[in-house]
Amino acid sequence: MTNKKDIKILSQILDIDEVKVISHSIYNEIGIILRTEPIKLYSVCPSCGTESHKLHQNHRHIIKDLPFGEKPIFLEINRRQFKCRICKKPFSEEFEFARKKRTYTNRLANKIIQEVLENDIHSVASKGIVTTEEIERMLKDASEKLNLTKPKNLKRLGIDEIALRKGKGNYCAVLIDLDTSKPIAILNARTQGVIEEVLISWGVEVLEQIKEVSIDLWQGYKILVIELMP
Ligand SMILES: [Zn+2]
Repeated sequence: MTNKKDIKILSQILDIDEVKVISHSIYNEIGIILRTEPIKLYSVCPSCGTESHKLHQNHRHIIKDLPFGEKPIFLEINRRQFKCRICKKPFSEEFEFARKKRTYTNRLANKIIQEVLENDIHSVASKGIVTTEEIERMLKDASEKLNLTKPKNLKRLGIDEIALRKGKGNYCAVLIDLDTSKPIAILNARTQGVIEEVLISWGVEVLEQIKEVSIDLWQGYKILVIELMP
């Protein structure tokens, strides 16, 4: 059992507003497992927007979170199902900190993506926290999310690439804001056509603001850059 004071401290250290820690276990070979429960007592139906307090089912599973020092952290989360009184159907609640059907928190995904940009998928996966499959999933999710928004105040653009699974010759191109070191687009290929499409979709307003472009790849991109961002 974890006492009340420990629980409060553990919840503070975990620092995820949507959940509180209810107990913890430490396993030498595995890491720390924090059992959590959602703080809110209701959820909003995604179909009709009605608040539902009617719990239909608990659904507990374990996901990975950022490590604590050298110890891996696992969160047991409860993604509850509620029943909407208007639609008469159960729905599963959404969390800001972890997407549905993912085996990791969003903040772990963000950190892993940064690491992959600095190294490569295989060296990040070899640390044993996440698998190459999970990293590829993270990149795909980030790509979908990033590609919905145009970059803001982009002055220095970096074009980089990430090698996906070994031996398959798969690459994705990553566009980076060099001032913030954050990816602004992740593309599912590194061909000129794919990159061109994204750059053009940003529009002249964004492209005109770019003063510097840094390219870590083959010459094909250079022509594109000179054409679109003289
Ligand atoms: Zn509903």
